[in-house]
Amino acid sequence: LSGSCYPVRTPDGRMLGVGILIEDITERKKAEDERAHLYREAQDAIRVRDDFLSIASHELKTPLTPLSLRLATLERRLERGEHVDPGLLRHARQQLTRLTGLINDLLDASRIEAGRLSLHPEATRFDTLVEHTLKAMEAQRGDHVFEFERPPEAVSVHGDAYRLEQVVLNLLENALKYSPDGGTIRVRLSVKKDLMVLSVKDPGIGIPEDQQQQLFDRYFRARNASTRSYGGLGLGLYISRDIVERHGGRIWVESEPGQGSTFYVALPTVSATRQPLPLVQPDR
Ligand code: ADP
Repeated sequence: LSGSCYPVRTPDGRMLGVGILIEDITERKKAEDERAHLYREAQDAIRVRDDFLSIASHELKTPLTPLSLRLATLERRLERGEHVDPGLLRHARQQLTRLTGLINDLLDASRIEAGRLSLHPEATRFDTLVEHTLKAMEAQRGDHVFEFERPPEAVSVHGDAYRLEQVVLNLLENALKYSPDGGTIRVRLSVKKDLMVLSVKDPGIGIPEDQQQQLFDRYFRARNASTRSYGGLGLGLYISRDIVERHGGRIWVESEPGQGSTFYVALPTVSATRQPLPLVQPDR
């Protein structure tokens, strides 16, 4: 309620008394609050977009300088008929792979937003998929150690092998990126009834508890990574969550700052006996 007082006088100016006006401003206040809230939300969205654009352009530019330097050196050496170091080409290719990965993430995120990220599910051996991904990351892992614990039997899911591999790759790449050299990354696959769970445990920097829920939001980068010492667009986990949930699964994290993080992916399995589809290997 809002109140105000005013003097009441006769036409010739004599004081008669005091008038009190009491007004119910609930609706007006509600509308004002609503407007302020919408304004704050719009400001937040603009800030997130601006931050993202500056991070994205920085990230996309980073691999370009070393790439063009290496190509220039290569060109010079070839022109002079000099020996070409294969390491030079390997590094150039690594920068290109990084750029391709960033661009693919940007494209996937916009496909998700438009509801156009298509899945092509088929019976897929998840255990082989993880093994394959770990092998593919041998060159990338540097001094880190991967340990893989798996059940003796085959683990099959009905899913898009390419997209599921993308999820595993993203978790492994993050484990490498956010943990110190030489650290051991423990990958574990287990099956209980009709559910399989993959966990990726790293001994890294960990994630502040109040930010763990937001990790899977688009563009979100936790305080632990907000300094530019760790490159990234904050899209990998957003894309992974979409893929996992569209397979009827769930993805989550347990983490303690300074101690490390464990990411989990749970997916429904298909037992080969109930669904006798031909098994497709993930390496396509
Ligand atoms: P990016 O790594 O490109 O920033 P992601 O979507 O893969 O994007 O991850 C979002 C954020 O989650 C990261 O910026 C980082 O703050 C946090 N994060 C992800 N994985 C880990 C991890 N293994 N350890 C610590 N923080 C992590």
